[in-house]
Amino acid sequence: QSVVNRIAAGEVVQRPVSAVKELIENSIDANSSSISVTIKDGGLKLIQVSDDGHGIRHEDLGILCERHTTSKLSAFEDLRSIKSMGFRGEALASMTYVGHVTVTTITKGQLHGYRVSYRDGVMEHEPKACAAVKGTQIMVENLFYNMAARRKTLQNSADDYSKIVDLISRFAIHHINVGFSCRKHGAVRADVHTVATSSRLDAIGSVYGVSVARNLMEIEASDDDPSSSPFEMHGFISNADYAAKKITMVLFINDRLVDCSALKRAIEVVYSATLPKASKPFVYMTIVVPPENVDVNVHPTKREVSLLNQEVIIEKIQTLVESRLRSSND
Ligand code: ADP
Ligand code: MG
Repeated sequence: QSVVNRIAAGEVVQRPVSAVKELIENSIDANSSSISVTIKDGGLKLIQVSDDGHGIRHEDLGILCERHTTSKLSAFEDLRSIKSMGFRGEALASMTYVGHVTVTTITKGQLHGYRVSYRDGVMEHEPKACAAVKGTQIMVENLFYNMAARRKTLQNSADDYSKIVDLISRFAIHHINVGFSCRKHGAVRADVHTVATSSRLDAIGSVYGVSVARNLMEIEASDDDPSSSPFEMHGFISNADYAAKKITMVLFINDRLVDCSALKRAIEVVYSATLPKASKPFVYMTIVVPPENVDVNVHPTKREVSLLNQEVIIEKIQTLVESRLRSSND
């Protein structure tokens, strides 16, 4: 049983970056306005996520890391219109099967918080009273300590920390009402640092640099025709003065960080056809569609999605991007 659980958990948490994503989404769901991440050894030694959200109630700590424990699914219909990001109640539980998880949390109005550690889906001891500031801190230590092969593969790849930085950068320019930071354990300087703001451009500037933010154009499109495929799109795209060798495409569909390779390719095509200097674009885009129109990938670690009638949507976006590029290039 425990081996089966571990294998299943290893599927949900494939790399340190997938654990970080789940933890950050939980912090956002908890209404945090500040989230800080600390990483040691690419996440294998330590992943620590601290937030100032609503915290976890003492009575919920016992079952917190049991599989399918979620506070976010109240009715079956919710499955069709998932508003909060988590809905599976599997992330935290999975982490306890492949790492050592310690939760410190305090809810509003409490005088002290609680700290508790979990192994294989259960508490190691009763929650201990402790001092705590607002919110929740979750530590995942020794990730994949019981999966030797996985650990070895990851130890040999140096890029896990940069994957985490990239992930947090993307979240930081989407959830601009939340301040994010990400640093290596013991480092003074953060590699991502944003403060809560109401300006998307400011957020993009503090993550990707002012020289990027300076060269962006705002775009917007929508279609409420239910017979084609209704959508609302809003975003920023780089202009002719922006120069980069690689495309940066940050895409959120219905508030979920996703990849849509068809859309990405369509945008790349417009840029190379329209701009003489073959600059690769920077794109931040958020698309909202009726939830039932997203082909939700059931596998929790897959980011690739497709949309119902996506050709129609992609073509509209392509046309818009092209006309904006042409007029900015004149
Ligand atoms: P899900 O997010 O799918 O509900 P998780 O395993 O990610 O499942 O989390 C389980 C539950 O733990 C959540 O539903 C939430 O109630 C609670 N939780 C986890 N992280 C936090 C946090 N940072 N702040 C408040 N509650 C949290
Ligand atoms: Mg979750």
